[in-house]
This record gives sequence, structure tokens and C-alpha cells, in this order.
Amino acid sequence: MSSFANLKRGRSDLAKLTKAIEATSQPAEAGSKDDTRFWQPEVDKAGNGMAVIRFLPAPAADGDDALPWVRVFSHGFQGPGGWFIDNCLTTINEKCPVCEHNNTLWNSGIEANKDIARKQKRKLSYVANILVISDPSNPANEGQVRLYKFGKKIFDKITEAMNPDFADETPVNPFDMWEGANFKLKIRNVEGYRNYDKSEFADKSALFDGEDSKLEALWKKEFSLKEFTEKSQFKSYDVIKTRLDKVLGFEGVEMPRTKAETAILDSFKEEDLAVIESRFEASVDEELNYFKDLADKK
Ligand SMILES: [Zn+2]
Repeated sequence: MSSFANLKRGRSDLAKLTKAIEATSQPAEAGSKDDTRFWQPEVDKAGNGMAVIRFLPAPAADGDDALPWVRVFSHGFQGPGGWFIDNCLTTINEKCPVCEHNNTLWNSGIEANKDIARKQKRKLSYVANILVISDPSNPANEGQVRLYKFGKKIFDKITEAMNPDFADETPVNPFDMWEGANFKLKIRNVEGYRNYDKSEFADKSALFDGEDSKLEALWKKEFSLKEFTEKSQFKSYDVIKTRLDKVLGFEGVEMPRTKAETAILDSFKEEDLAVIESRFEASVDEELNYFKDLADKK
């Protein structure tokens, strides 16, 4: 349990947050879309939406060293045997059968295989606590503490606020309740994908005029983020492998690995996935939501 006094004292520790962003492995997983703790912005028929949220500090329940966010990797794609939608085990630094399979496809050098690997790649998202400031589509959400799952684009906006490009800009810790800033989420539909480019932080402002008693009560309402990186939240390698084989249409068929495949798997490199990701980072979690919606309709 972290104390409120420590939170207030250590809140300008941007170095800690920056270091955590730079660290390569610091992952997690998030709840399904039926999890009512999660807030989602709504868009109109044209695909446009707007809301104002405030990112909140690491929850009291997670202790002094906790970060205000967790990282989550997941896979969502359709194969001949159905849909595969699940957490990626690399989130908890373990071997993932889907990533291994993708790596084999990618390293085959065959363009068609590379396309499949791109389609099946792991997608990165983040989970953080937020206060919903303004939600015109669902005003009942306003004033509530919720979890928010978002993609790389929004995380980049957060890191930009913490490390501005220009010397005349002051670094802001968006998770600070006293000296942080509200986030204006602006969603547009660009070529069929949700686009967050227009989103931006407002000017620095204290929540609740910096009234400590109100802020402490708010902070204590936050949800723990720890569960998203707990091993118990993930299926085992074997269970995921079985599901993957079914989705890929390999079920019941013994698929021995060739020597070449084994060699490729042994030389598994994280960078290969980074390459795939960098080429297909267009929209991260919204793409997954799209797949989930389709799967739900099946
Ligand atoms: Zn994976």
C-alpha cells in the first residue's frame, strides 16, 4: 500500500516514468470488452468522437514502486479453423506459440507467409486508470474512475508530454493530479480506422482545485493494475498452442518441426517482431476491438 503523502512528494519523478518507458520489457494484459471497469470512447456513425479524460497516478493498492500503466500484448486474427483472440504470453516474458509460429513464417522469406505473420502479429496496448471528465455520448460516465485501454498512438502523446521536443516547452507528467493535464481525446475515421492524431493535452491544471481530501478519495477509488501482469490471468503455452493449431487448421494432425524450423525457433529474435510491428502500427487496439466484434457476432 502506498501512502498519499509519498504520492504527493514523489509525483514529479519523471525520471522514473521515463526509465520505465525506455525499458523494453514491462508488459501486461487487459479485461474483455464486457469488463465494466473499462471505459471506451464512443464514436458517431461517421466514426468521429470526442471525450476529455484525466490519466491518474499508480493506484494506492499497487504500492510505491508501481507505474501508472501496464503494457499488454494480445493476438486477434482469423484462420481456417476460426478466430484466435487471446493474450500473448510475451506480456509476462514467456514464450508465445503464436509469436513463435509468426517468427517461422517471417523467416521463411516468402512474401505470402510474411503477410500472414503481419496479420497475426501481437498488438501492443496499455491499461491505465482515468477519471472521465467529459463524455458527451455517455454523460453518466462523467466523474467516474475507470480503466482505459489504449494503443501506441496515445501512449506516444503521453511520452511527448513528458519529454517535449522543444526547449520552450515544460515537461508535464500527465498522471499528476496537481500539475498534470486533462487529455482531449479526438477520434476521427481515417480510411476505416480510428485515428487519434488530433488528440492533445490541455493546459496544466489541478484536479478538484488541488483539494487534497478529494484527490485522496479519488486515488483510493483506482483499480489495481497488477492483475493484468499476473501469470494466473494467462493460459498456459500448451492450451494456447492447441487453440492456435485448431485455428490454423492443424488440429489432429501431427506437425513435426523440420530441422530448419527448429533452428529458426532457436534463434528467435525479438527484433523480428519489432520489424513487423513498426510496419503495421496503424491502429492498435481498435483493430483488435474490430476483430472482437466480429468474433462476438459469429
Ligand atoms: Zn504472442
